[in-house]
Amino acid sequence: GKKERLDKVLSNIGYGSRKDVKKFIKDGIVKVNNETILNNEFKVNPYEDLITFNGEEILYREYIYLMMNKPKGLVSSTDDPLTRTVIDLLEEEYIVYKPFPAGRLDKDTEGLLLITNDGKLAHQLLSPKKGVDKTYYVEVDGYVEEKHIEEFNNGIVLDDGYTTLPATLKIQDSNVISKVYLTIQEGKFHQVKRMFESIGMKVLYLKRISMGPLKLDESLETGEYRELTEEEIKLLK
Ligand code: URA
Repeated sequence: GKKERLDKVLSNIGYGSRKDVKKFIKDGIVKVNNETILNNEFKVNPYEDLITFNGEEILYREYIYLMMNKPKGLVSSTDDPLTRTVIDLLEEEYIVYKPFPAGRLDKDTEGLLLITNDGKLAHQLLSPKKGVDKTYYVEVDGYVEEKHIEEFNNGIVLDDGYTTLPATLKIQDSNVISKVYLTIQEGKFHQVKRMFESIGMKVLYLKRISMGPLKLDESLETGEYRELTEEEIKLLK
């Protein structure tokens, strides 16, 4: 494997600027293969050498991929002056990789959020050209009926005059409060809520359950997250 400078490796994965990291090394808190290293130019193979920082083992990798079941009440951005963000739920061992949510969910929406530092993958998933399917479980105030399936499939004209691409509506329960699944390929601002508004219905509960080949792990409680498996990462790429 390729050897790199210890300060570069640590800085790359978010332990601070080169200057910060140089100081940490000088302070003697970094060990390589159980030996304290004081020389910041020391060369390591980050995939093979055991590096510890303050006694904590560093798991070196370029990218991290996390699946979160987003709870209500948090915003899906990396920082916000007023509200807690989904990133605030992550443990420090992940935050050092500077991850961000690939795609947004509204503050009051729950469900599948991919959090990664892989900009290329995020771009592919979010690119309108790629038209990646996003499926939502939706509870709606009012009777969603068969006729709406065709309306959604033909495209819905939103409040700003935009006509949505064909969307797939599946009715699980048509009732005073209806339970449905909606699959869209786009991601316009508040799209699902606005599509139902256009047919005169209010969304009461919204949860994303899949994004392309990635399905929400239903064993995750809201606010919980886990790393993607190798298989899930392969499916996405
Ligand atoms: N559509 C919405 O209206 N809100 C979301 O959070 C996602 C899709």
